[in-house]
Amino acid sequence: MPRRPRVARVQGARGEERAIRAIVRSPLQLEGAREGVRDKARALGLSGWVLSADGGGLTLHAEGMPIAIDALIAFLAERVAHGGAGGVEIEEVPREGHEQFALRGVSAGGFVVKEHAANTHHFDMRLEVAGVMRSWALPKGPSLDPAVKRLAVEVPDHSIEQNEFEGPTGAGGVVLWDRGLYEQGGRVAWPEALSRGHAVFVLHGEKLRGGFALQRTRASGKPQWLLLKRRDEEARPASDVVAERPASVLSGRTLEQVLAAARRRDPALRGVAPERP
Ligand code: MN
Repeated sequence: MPRRPRVARVQGARGEERAIRAIVRSPLQLEGAREGVRDKARALGLSGWVLSADGGGLTLHAEGMPIAIDALIAFLAERVAHGGAGGVEIEEVPREGHEQFALRGVSAGGFVVKEHAANTHHFDMRLEVAGVMRSWALPKGPSLDPAVKRLAVEVPDHSIEQNEFEGPTGAGGVVLWDRGLYEQGGRVAWPEALSRGHAVFVLHGEKLRGGFALQRTRASGKPQWLLLKRRDEEARPASDVVAERPASVLSGRTLEQVLAAARRRDPALRGVAPERP
């Protein structure tokens, strides 16, 4: 993972920092509790994340100056005491180098993956960031196998309105291969993470699920990235999701079927066929 020169400063002036992992049982599952913890942690100058835990309550990671950690622990204990039942478990853990205090498990917007036959056959992966779809063209498409790295060539932003488009195009056709919501992850806030060239995210699609990372490998010219599946419970080692699940999540049709239908309707499209990877 790329590190900034800032690390040297952290090890010097902030070398006394510590980190905790906390599990807060109900009643902190109350509306707004997660945001309250985030706001308190930020006000204390802490970094890390907070997540709504399965079955209620919160899980959080916080790191920073010891006095600020103690203040956060006191804040959590006070919230629990005022709420009645419940409890808080605190564990000292290694620092992870977070540069923000983030809400985890919160949708950042939509994502789509299109299968697109044009001059070449490729997949387009698009993530909603700040009102536009940040876009990458993947010659071989995505993979759920953590051992596989897929080339992702950065291409211009697309509009959100184009997300659901499917059908023949002038030079071929496109199907909506996957869609869903996604979460932004990592130690650096987005879109800064993208400008630095390392972005971690969680997809909640119909085919693509779990953690992924985009790692930029070439910044000049047409920026090139690698898309990797992170190792988690959604990883499918040795799988090939592109081959196994070709149908559109919108229509159930494959790209080949869309192209064949287009050829039947329009003789000008005859002979257009996708190049298979
Ligand atoms: Mn395309």
